[in-house]
Amino acid sequence: MKLYNTKSRSIEEFTPLTDGIVTMYACGPTVYDYTHIGHMKKYIGDDVLRRTLTLLGYDVKHVMNVTDVGHLSDDGDEGEDKLEKGAKKEGKTVWDIAAFYTDYFHNTMNAVNVLPPTIEAKATDHITEMIALVEKLVAEGIAYETAHAIYFDVTKDPHYGELSGQKLSEKETAARDDVVIDPDKKNPADFSLWFKRVGKFADHAMYWPSPWGDGFPGWHIECSAMAMHYLGETIDIHTGGIDHVPVHHENEIAQSECATHKQFVRYWVHHDFLNVEGEKMSKSKQNFYTIEDIVARKINPLATRLMFMQTSYRKPMNFTWDSLDTVNQQFKKLQKFAAHHDTVGTISETYKAAFIDGLSDDLNTAKAIATMWELLGDNTISEEDKWATLLMFDTVLGLQLDQVEKFSISEEASLLVEARDKARAEKNYAESDEFRRQLEGLGYEVLDTAEGTKLQ
Ligand code: AMP
Ligand code: ZN
Repeated sequence: MKLYNTKSRSIEEFTPLTDGIVTMYACGPTVYDYTHIGHMKKYIGDDVLRRTLTLLGYDVKHVMNVTDVGHLSDDGDEGEDKLEKGAKKEGKTVWDIAAFYTDYFHNTMNAVNVLPPTIEAKATDHITEMIALVEKLVAEGIAYETAHAIYFDVTKDPHYGELSGQKLSEKETAARDDVVIDPDKKNPADFSLWFKRVGKFADHAMYWPSPWGDGFPGWHIECSAMAMHYLGETIDIHTGGIDHVPVHHENEIAQSECATHKQFVRYWVHHDFLNVEGEKMSKSKQNFYTIEDIVARKINPLATRLMFMQTSYRKPMNFTWDSLDTVNQQFKKLQKFAAHHDTVGTISETYKAAFIDGLSDDLNTAKAIATMWELLGDNTISEEDKWATLLMFDTVLGLQLDQVEKFSISEEASLLVEARDKARAEKNYAESDEFRRQLEGLGYEVLDTAEGTKLQ
């Protein structure tokens, strides 16, 4: 399989470190607010990657974190902890906030058939691993303590900034304001590994004892600690949103590689962003859509999978309700095909090869989907074989076509068909139209044929 690696800025041939096994770490949600359709794009993207690797025969160990502490509202060390801020706003405890939004995230993922990761790791359950990693960095002379925090000294890492190609001097400008907060911070770009429960964080609700007193971990250390804890010091694939390249992932690499002196991640995979009607999603613009907005429009959330797969994960995407409506019609066609097919024939090797060819081309899902439509329109393939091949495709597409209710004509409907045919024979068209309406009300498509009424 070919995969674009953000680190090398090129498409590479993917081979895992251990034959047959892929270790994959995905940055997960910060559970302080509702999961929106932008998140859906990212996690569906991860899911398609994981399912593709599984189809290719790999055993995928997929770890995803849930950030329930320590993610500040800006990328520097300024700002408030997102969870604490949410709790204050809603008058709840931080633990309640985390539990509520974690649940919401799970429900959304379930609705779009994203497979649960092999291990879902909550940050608050891994404080020991994070402290151990910070201690290692302190012992190596890479991290240092001030009255406020433990910082990572970016000047000690000659490779800092390589992922995004940023020079330290550029970073310094961006993070200059931090100096005002902690005068003992050595370099403006140094980032916190551990925050002490002092100063502006003196009232922080979540805190743990540590060698540096009570406090809480920074967001970046969480991912390094949990990724290495579950998957080893060098992992095959690390995914995230493209926004994570310049800070979060840069910092993850720095912390991990300075602690282990080994390569942390072999392939960096980044999903580009979803905009809504040409604009960045935000609550104030009222274009912050969730799964409920989709359901309210009577659109099956699974149709969003088909929509996201029509564009490369590496391209930004613009969401409009019109585009989702169009894709929903295509999704309904697939469901109809599934409803009318029961007997599973033999998988077409030619179409399977074409499908895999698309996916192996840096997850070219658009190409894979084009192959699917080509299959369904190919008159040389039997209906049974089409169905068998489509079911195999769906192990990656995840449209749950195997769960579509099979088409059957109920007793009520057969009586209506009989009555309608009689009315038509008697040229009683008003009555025949009324029976058509009733049949359509039951969900059938009514066709007039030479042999009389046919339902679909
Ligand atoms: P958050 O919970 O906001 O930290 O985001 C979790 C993941 O979703 C991160 O990898 C983000 O990059 C990604 N993400 C957030 N907003 C969007 C968006 N509008 N489009 C695509 N991905 C997003
Ligand atoms: Zn992360």
